[in-house]
Amino acid sequence: MRTNLRNVLIVAGASALVLAGCSSSSDDSSEEATAEATATETTEGDSGSSDPVLVATTVSPITSIVSRVGGDCVDIEGIVPEGTNSHTFEPAPSVAALLSDADVVFINGLQLEDPTLEMAEANMRDDAVLVELGTVALPEEEYIYDFSFPEEEGKPNPHLWTDPGFAIEYADIVRETLTEQAPECADQFQTNFESFEAQVNELADAIREDQQTVPEGQLKLVTYHDAYAYFADNYGWEVVGALQPSDFADPTPSEVVTLIEQINAEGVPTIFGSEVFPSDVLAEIGNETGVRYEDSLRDDDLPGAPGDENHSWLGLMQYNFATMIEGLGGEAPNIEAVDITSPVPDTANYPQ
Ligand SMILES: [Zn+2]
Repeated sequence: MRTNLRNVLIVAGASALVLAGCSSSSDDSSEEATAEATATETTEGDSGSSDPVLVATTVSPITSIVSRVGGDCVDIEGIVPEGTNSHTFEPAPSVAALLSDADVVFINGLQLEDPTLEMAEANMRDDAVLVELGTVALPEEEYIYDFSFPEEEGKPNPHLWTDPGFAIEYADIVRETLTEQAPECADQFQTNFESFEAQVNELADAIREDQQTVPEGQLKLVTYHDAYAYFADNYGWEVVGALQPSDFADPTPSEVVTLIEQINAEGVPTIFGSEVFPSDVLAEIGNETGVRYEDSLRDDDLPGAPGDENHSWLGLMQYNFATMIEGLGGEAPNIEAVDITSPVPDTANYPQ
């Protein structure tokens, strides 16, 4: 699946020499040769092995995965503040400075962060690399389009990271990319990756075990924000409907009626919202249909605060999967028993 990595790595912009030429144009022309040499030396110094690799990341689950693999060999700066709607997020002009300093920029891709991608392409150094994790991990023929992400609008469902297998895939792409940037840390990246992979696989096994306690035929998700399309496919769940229209506005009355009919026909016991998208409409539908409205799922806002043990991809997904299974009438003792403690301190900066 990673064979197309090199095609998607975007090595930004012009050569160091061209940049040096540009920067020297404001200098006295008699000093041009010296200015070029200095600028070239500086560029080489920046990518040398003495400084930690500077990595910029977008949403917090990706920041967490990168931090888990990178450990203290990298400095990580998140871009999308937690609790923000990542689908409509526009980076502040100040993010351009971070992107111009970064050695590596990891984004989800699949057109989730187009404004940030545009800013990255305009500002990144020519020796820096940009990796779209989802776009690398998922072949185009496997893109899912659905009610939240209709094909005619051209943006696939981008939520690969809520699927444990794809989270491992993301971590492996991160490992490979960082190893190219800091080969002296290769062993550490490998060790960190393997311990993450083992914990995610443990969580995945626990999900498959616990989901069997959900009553027959009830592995159905009605969600406000359709963040589980790939997970559902891989784990044999069905996403029945997602209320939220693709422009993230409130649904029309006729969309609400359709959803109420769907909920009644499917007999789901719980409909799921997201704490990033509080919805009075979904709460009303819950009242109307007599089903429980669970509004605490999160797709890209980690639980707890930075530095807390559960403030991680593992903490996020342990919470979400236990909440979904219990909401559907099952029990989640195996999921709750997974040890999410990380052996790698998380020193990434998560904007709040
Ligand atoms: Zn989302």
